[in-house]
Amino acid sequence: MPLVTIARDPFARMDVVRETVAQHERGECSWCGQPARFRYGTANDGSRFVRSYVVGKLFCSVGCARSYGGVIPE
Ligand SMILES: [Zn+2]
Repeated sequence: MPLVTIARDPFARMDVVRETVAQHERGECSWCGQPARFRYGTANDGSRFVRSYVVGKLFCSVGCARSYGGVIPE
């Protein structure tokens, strides 16, 4: 599914990326319980290679992914 860069951290040389998951993979936000269709992770600066996801979790927004904790920087 499409991977979109939503934030850049030039100091860490890292991008925050968002993946929209397929219809059948969608579910509840791991933080707030609302319908969720995104996964978040980080990628090496400027590349499309995803380094890590907030493992196995779905979120409705990046705010929830940050609140949950893990790999998404502030
Ligand atoms: Zn949420």
